[in-house]
Amino acid sequence: MSVVVMKFGGSSLSNLYKMRQVADKIIKKKKDGNKIIVVVSALGDTTDDLINLINKITYDPIPREFDTLLSTGEIVSASLLSTMINSIGEKAISLTGYQAGIKTNNDFMYAKIKEIDSTRIKECLLNNMIVIVTGFQGVSFDNNVTTLGRGGSDLTAVVLAAALKSDFCEIYSDVEGVYTVDPNIVKNAKKINIISYDEMIEMASSGAQVLQTRSVLVAKKFNVKIYAKCSFNNKEGTIICDISKNKEVGMESSLITGIAFDKDQVKISIIGLLNIESCVTNLFDNFINDGIYIDMLTYSSINTDINNTISFTIDKQYFVKAKSIINNMLCNKNVKDIFYNDDVSKISIIGIGIKSDYSIVSKILKTFSDNKVNILMIYISEIKISIVVDKKNATKSINELHYMFKL
Ligand code: ASP
Ligand code: MG
Repeated sequence: MSVVVMKFGGSSLSNLYKMRQVADKIIKKKKDGNKIIVVVSALGDTTDDLINLINKITYDPIPREFDTLLSTGEIVSASLLSTMINSIGEKAISLTGYQAGIKTNNDFMYAKIKEIDSTRIKECLLNNMIVIVTGFQGVSFDNNVTTLGRGGSDLTAVVLAAALKSDFCEIYSDVEGVYTVDPNIVKNAKKINIISYDEMIEMASSGAQVLQTRSVLVAKKFNVKIYAKCSFNNKEGTIICDISKNKEVGMESSLITGIAFDKDQVKISIIGLLNIESCVTNLFDNFINDGIYIDMLTYSSINTDINNTISFTIDKQYFVKAKSIINNMLCNKNVKDIFYNDDVSKISIIGIGIKSDYSIVSKILKTFSDNKVNILMIYISEIKISIVVDKKNATKSINELHYMFKL
């Protein structure tokens, strides 16, 4: 009898009617002869609501208390879903991260899973129960509740699939899988049937919301296939697996898999910075200590320190914090200018084919120039090209690119 891990996102559990459909789906899978582990997110927007609540007291909460508070969202979903399944007549039990043996380090808000002690889960499965585990949380070795970063229930699901030696993990949401681009932006976005781990990692880390990036990294490491499916129908969805070696990049196949979009970014440029290497190292160390991640980075030095320039982007949610770090660190330094542009978006074009055809870059540049859209930054890697533009130009540019690449 095989173990199947089914993860349900918050929007699939946002009311009791939807929860009932989810419960029926789980029970059916059990009756098909599987042992079932369900991982749940918090109902609807609960996590955001909890953050807003604590922010009414402080914008800088004690990380331990922040995690304890946020973990309650998933506990509500798990116990409600278990109650519903039991009331239908199947045996189910809810387990918190602690009860499920999910051991993490002590990095509150972004804890890393270090170990799974699956004894309790296995006992419950042996007792023929459907095991419902709270996503997004664990417990540190010194017994504090931790959370795994936003979207962390996906990670819980993949890690449990790996720990219980299941070859795959089903991640259900209210969309039908991974799309070539966000269907809210491009009307004729298409569902992707199969996508490699590497492409999915780039899609997720470049703004596609369907899966948490860390969960795909772990899926790749342990070779767990992910099926991204819709909670409310039986369609195929998207398979995320190791196809990179086999994917044919020929004349017929599409070189580009999809376009991801990070709507709210800030571009920061520091010009004429003396001792640029050591300053930048210190600056970025401070950013990392405060949980701020640098995204695109360009650095150019033209003979004199006066012309040293670095530009980088960060997520807009970190803007206030980043600005105060920069001001504190650089106020006494000899800097010619600092520019902040807090109204930019990042568009990322992703596909294994990119590395085999550099004419793609010129096609992209032509699309932007034909549409008179100014490119503020560009970054090219093996399977991704990212472009920063003014936010007002983003939607139009994405539509043009989607059309041009016939996605
Ligand atoms: N409830 C958490 C969040 O909103 C975790 C998750 O949904 O995966 O980020
Ligand atoms: Mg999610």
